[in-house]
Amino acid sequence: MTDQADLPDLAPQRSDHERERKLKLRAFRGLRCYIDMVDGGRGYHCPVCGYEGRFSPVRQKPDLWCPACDSRPRHRLLKLWMNRELQLPASARVLHFAAEPWIGDWFAPRVAEYVTADINDKFDLQLDMTAIDLPDARYDVIIANHVLEHLDDRKALAELYRVLAPGGMVILSVPLVDGWDETYEDPSITDPEDRLIHFTDRTHLRLYGRDFPDRVAAAGFTVRAFTAHEPDVSRHALQRGEKIFVGRKPA
Ligand SMILES: [Zn+2]
Repeated sequence: MTDQADLPDLAPQRSDHERERKLKLRAFRGLRCYIDMVDGGRGYHCPVCGYEGRFSPVRQKPDLWCPACDSRPRHRLLKLWMNRELQLPASARVLHFAAEPWIGDWFAPRVAEYVTADINDKFDLQLDMTAIDLPDARYDVIIANHVLEHLDDRKALAELYRVLAPGGMVILSVPLVDGWDETYEDPSITDPEDRLIHFTDRTHLRLYGRDFPDRVAAAGFTVRAFTAHEPDVSRHALQRGEKIFVGRKPA
């Protein structure tokens, strides 16, 4: 039987291990960056920060991180979409859930209002996406990358639709298994360790399949996808076939 007196030591040990792992990762990425500078490593362009060169591997996936700004493939895909397709009036009001700082840096000087939000209190607004404490039609653009898989997405999508002004748009990305026709979720899986195994993260409630745009459309949105194709994949180290989804509320 476990001695209760031993238990308080476990948490510090875990965080020490995590700290050590992060330090090793940082040192490894720094070394890669240095080698690239020395040998002029050929490669990619980061549309987020403009870096040219090799990217750093993570967990056996080559070329995942930009060593200059830490962007991941989905960030670079989003920035490509923003560069090519986003048309934003200066009067736009933007609400950004679980905000990535570089997106805020880009949006804030270009729009009338840019506000960040999350379920915790570390952002401008503390909001539950499944019951958003805001009036109808309050924002023109709402951004939520990798948020919907953590909560009741039907409630959240209905709320996003309500809070968007007519003609407004929601920009979404989620973990999606392209080989699956349907989203995989199982409400009986509640233990964080089981969720990690089934849904790849301790706080994920599901992994989406190709029906994700249908789930967004069910809330009233017209949905379009921006997909990582060549030549962008090899130029910007994108995940082949990854998608950004844009849902429009009718004007
Ligand atoms: Zn970069």
